[in-house]
Amino acid sequence: MDLARFPRRRYTEGATPIEPLPRFSAALAASCPGGRGPEVWIKRDDLLGLSPGGNKTRKLEFLVADALAQGCDTLVTCGAPQSNHCRITLAAAVKEGLKCRFVIEERIPNSFDAEGGGNHYLFRLLGVEAITVVPAGTDMAAAMQQVADELKALGRKAYIIAGGGSNALGGLGYVACAQELQQQLFERGLAIDHLVVGSGSSGTHGGLVAGFLGNGITIPITGIGVSRDPAQQQPLVLKEAQAVCALLGLPITVRPEDVHCVGGYWQPKYSVPNARMVEAVQMLARTDAILLDPVYTGKVMAGLIGLAREGVFKPGERVMFLHTGGMTSLFPYQRVVLGQDEVAP
Ligand SMILES: *Cc1c(COP(=O)(O)O)cnc(C)c1O
Repeated sequence: MDLARFPRRRYTEGATPIEPLPRFSAALAASCPGGRGPEVWIKRDDLLGLSPGGNKTRKLEFLVADALAQGCDTLVTCGAPQSNHCRITLAAAVKEGLKCRFVIEERIPNSFDAEGGGNHYLFRLLGVEAITVVPAGTDMAAAMQQVADELKALGRKAYIIAGGGSNALGGLGYVACAQELQQQLFERGLAIDHLVVGSGSSGTHGGLVAGFLGNGITIPITGIGVSRDPAQQQPLVLKEAQAVCALLGLPITVRPEDVHCVGGYWQPKYSVPNARMVEAVQMLARTDAILLDPVYTGKVMAGLIGLAREGVFKPGERVMFLHTGGMTSLFPYQRVVLGQDEVAP
């Protein structure tokens, strides 16, 4: 598929590594029925640029190129408190000499602490221009438009980036990832049976679905929800994948069976810890020394572990886990991750 016709900024040198996880796979197998489990690999999108990078880096390569092409001087985006997306958007703005403003939705009352740690600290360090905090349920598109209007009155020009960078253009970042992964598997002569990915605002999962369909890759993608169960998540991802296909001009109709979502691992609530997340974060840190995060990748890895124990991922199958980043929020959740605080089951 020809992505070269879309303007793109480059924030990462080369491909992110793929690596086997031998010690993690052995520990997982020991906890599976019969003592056998799948062979787990990882694609290190936590090593993307705009350090510490993550999946938002790939989407921003296309979104920021569009902002620059339109002559905008300020990126405006939105997210939850501790948003990795806001932090990486800010980093891209700094690198391009642009300003950056956020609207933060306090999905849990008083969870945004301007003086706080983790990403809140990095917002200040990287020099965010302004943050507007709004209550849960606010119309985020309208709130961002208001910021853009304020900038316009000052003679400036805002570029609004949807939550998570998940629109058709941002989704191209994960079409590019699909092509990168395909090439890596080809070069290594590595056949995989499953790709496991987090599914939130849907640009990552949806972009991968579009990229796999467009490139004829038939490896099944399992999207583990971080904020919704399949009944709500699946239509969102399908819509995103279809929008990406349309932008690429592909004659593809994305079918419901192309979008596989798994729920049950994000509860009790988006960003609120649970015991299986704690187990997953500790397990990967203490076997293969890779750091997950408590809000996204810890819950997604908990899903991979659960599906292996249930026998959905079978002994001998190769499962590729896409690490989407987020490690800076390990710090504000220190006590939880170390098992010192009570969490939901
Ligand atoms: C945003 C984010 C996700 C979810 O990706 P979407 O494209 O929003 O579905 C997963 N992991 C991390 C670390 C993130 O920051």
